[in-house]
Amino acid sequence: MTKVNSKLIIAIDGYSSCGKSTVAKDLAKLLNIIFIDSGAMYRCVTLYALQNGIIHEGIIDEDLLIESLDEINITFKFDVQSKSNQTYLNGKLVESEIRGPEVSDNVSQISTIGFVRKKMVELQQAMGQTDSIVMDGRDIGTVVFPQADLKLFMTASPMIRGQRRFKEYQEKNQDITFDEVMENVKKRDYMDENRDESPLRKDDDALVLDNSDMTKQEQLDFIVDQLKVRNLIK
Ligand code: C5P
Repeated sequence: MTKVNSKLIIAIDGYSSCGKSTVAKDLAKLLNIIFIDSGAMYRCVTLYALQNGIIHEGIIDEDLLIESLDEINITFKFDVQSKSNQTYLNGKLVESEIRGPEVSDNVSQISTIGFVRKKMVELQQAMGQTDSIVMDGRDIGTVVFPQADLKLFMTASPMIRGQRRFKEYQEKNQDITFDEVMENVKKRDYMDENRDESPLRKDDDALVLDNSDMTKQEQLDFIVDQLKVRNLIK
């Protein structure tokens, strides 16, 4: 059995829909460590804002959002049946709601706001205090855990990412066209790379993993090899 040698932090950053969470989940299972999907946290803030009149026709009321920030309680619970973490917003299971098109359309705008990022980063850093974790997002290696033991920067071509996201929506019977999915993927990439606060970028010491032509197993093997080379697991 694969085991971590000591407390381990693995940071996985990259573009939207390139399979970061999938590989992070597989890795967490293999190493028996905690997986945190930081994107789910920004999605929860977005869902809360949509449900509470803080976003209206795409415009965010930042004064109301800052006032409401302490009312937004995000937790993760491990679900034995699906063998994965489920996201809860103020005690309510929102795993599927936060992945819908309305949240996806607004989340990158919410994520540009400095006070939202500050709060999320504090929560994320607290999660990595005691346990070994693998966390995926956009700023995990650059801002949240600059001292991470292993940093990966994942990417795949926009077309492949759009196809993957479209398939996910189809499986959930979501009413969305491929063109709309592609537009959302491109819009989020642009906003994530060009925002002032913690823009998406590859950290100098991050390894690039372009998975356009890789299977899930090949990606996992690549990461496991890198962890072994660094003597972080056995
Ligand atoms: O990873 P996912 O696509 O679910 O993330 C949703 C959005 O949250 C991203 O498009 C990005 O704008 C934002 N995000 C972020 N920083 C993170 C994780 C996600 O800005 N660490």
